[in-house]
Amino acid sequence: MCIITMNFMSKCGKSIKFFERNSARFRLYCTKSSDKDGPPVQKFEHPLSRTLRILKADLKTIKNYIPFIHKQHYENKFFSDHCDIVVIGGGVIGSSIAYWLQTRVRDGVRVIVIEKDPSYAKASTPLSCGGIRHQFGLPENIQMSMFGAEFLRNIKRYLHVEGDNPPDVCFTPYGYLSLATDRSAQQLEENVHLQHQLGVKNELLSPTMLKKKFPWLDTTGIALGCHGLENEGWFDPWSLLMAFKKKAISAGAEYVTAEAIGFEFRKMPDMLIEGVEPGTYETIDRVLVKTENGEVRPIKFGIAVIAAGANSKKVAEMARIGKGSGYLSVPLPIEPRKRYVYCVHCPEGPGLNTPFVIDPTGTYFRREGFGGNFICGKSPTEEEGEPSIEDLEVDSSYFDNSVWPHLAARVPAFEQLKVKNAWAGYYDINVVDENGIVGPHPYYHNLYLAAGFSGHGIQQAPAVGRAVMEMMFEGGFKTIDLSRFGFDRLMYNELLREVNIV
Ligand SMILES: Cc1cc2nc3c(=O)[nH]c(=O)nc-3n(C[C@H](O)[C@H](O)[C@H](O)COP(=O)(O)OP(=O)(O)OC[C@H]3O[C@@H](n4cnc5c(N)ncnc54)[C@H](O)[C@@H]3O)c2cc1C
Repeated sequence: MCIITMNFMSKCGKSIKFFERNSARFRLYCTKSSDKDGPPVQKFEHPLSRTLRILKADLKTIKNYIPFIHKQHYENKFFSDHCDIVVIGGGVIGSSIAYWLQTRVRDGVRVIVIEKDPSYAKASTPLSCGGIRHQFGLPENIQMSMFGAEFLRNIKRYLHVEGDNPPDVCFTPYGYLSLATDRSAQQLEENVHLQHQLGVKNELLSPTMLKKKFPWLDTTGIALGCHGLENEGWFDPWSLLMAFKKKAISAGAEYVTAEAIGFEFRKMPDMLIEGVEPGTYETIDRVLVKTENGEVRPIKFGIAVIAAGANSKKVAEMARIGKGSGYLSVPLPIEPRKRYVYCVHCPEGPGLNTPFVIDPTGTYFRREGFGGNFICGKSPTEEEGEPSIEDLEVDSSYFDNSVWPHLAARVPAFEQLKVKNAWAGYYDINVVDENGIVGPHPYYHNLYLAAGFSGHGIQQAPAVGRAVMEMMFEGGFKTIDLSRFGFDRLMYNELLREVNIV
């Protein structure tokens, strides 16, 4: 048992001092040696009682140790004050980045993830619909979601933590069905052509073919449809997030529960940057974090990554992005936009063979398990206007006025549906061109951005994490070339419009 305890203690690594001080065994030795009046007196003890006593002490030690491991990552009263890479935001993007970085070089790098709310109550990740589709119009988006599907299919290989249950994200590969009117049919066809070139398996369907394949569909006004035949569908976002996080932690990443509230800067007089007076350049050096008990502490880093989802613009502003001149005059154009998801019940609705359907009006629905349950929603049109982002209250009248009529027009059985539940979450919208911003910031040599995925970030998380790792450790993108997704495009106005936004 003694050996077991010692192994346990040595596994504790950096926390060993704390552990020793608090361990039952330490107290055991202390009582013996703290006798000030002379050497410790050894009393006779029956071997059986001695074994039982040691066993009891060891069990107590192990019991104490388990919550300590937990605390290290979730309450982290003792978190480190320096690291190689700090990731701000522990949602699916930040956790994927931490996973790729930490598993790539293991002990060779120290990664800290700062997450202000480990319950993720308002984060986009757990509030998303978990859809994954290849039906995009930009090659990068198609390739990222193709890798996302490959990742989900092999998730056990990527994210299984030894000694733990294999991760299961309930991938439901029933495909997407995008519907187009006469006006949008040509665009759909062009997208499908590109998708096929990249190896996507989907098929174009005329209204007659659509009706044959999906008899519950009303094809009025539909000129063309595209149905994904492989690797599209939906999965459980929470399980994916937790799997990334667990694996990253098991590889050595440290999660700190705190809010990033500012940066400290360091002068680099030798650094020459266009538009900056020689000798005045300052880089970011430490991030200031506020813990749950209000304490403010700095964490020094080599590289920082902003992966704070819909809040990324605010974090970037702390680094003077969008607040200065020259390179710093361009803001990170990411804003939270409230989106409602309604859970409806309709036993007469479409059955098992129901893809994730996207109507030309932007209204979408998909099956949620079995038994006639569906989730659905729609982004507001310009005329409808954006809802307030003050809170995550759901507007039920939006369903009645703007969602249900389109659902019932497309699937007549939905006339009979009943709304059972609803939630709202923040889309992480890049208001300039509705695509993620990935890569280094042009002003800071030590700041990376990975945010603004505009309602399709979950499926891109595996590819984005890998891309950031490649940029940092391999000197450039090696698998999917995301050069066009860099911040530079905003400065040179080389925008990347994605035509297939839901
Ligand atoms: C209703 C809805 C449906 C969606 N459907 C889909 C879908 O079907 N498919 C798809 O691919 N995507 C979908 N998305 C989009 C997807 O959820 C996001 O693109 C993705 O989750 C973004 O992940 P993230 O890690 O960047 O952001 P988040 O999950 O929001 O994580 C960011 C984290 O940063 C933390 N943070 C913020 N500021 C700070 C700070 N200052 N200090 C410390 N921590 C901070 C936050 O607490 C948060 O946990 C949907 C989104 C919504 C809202």
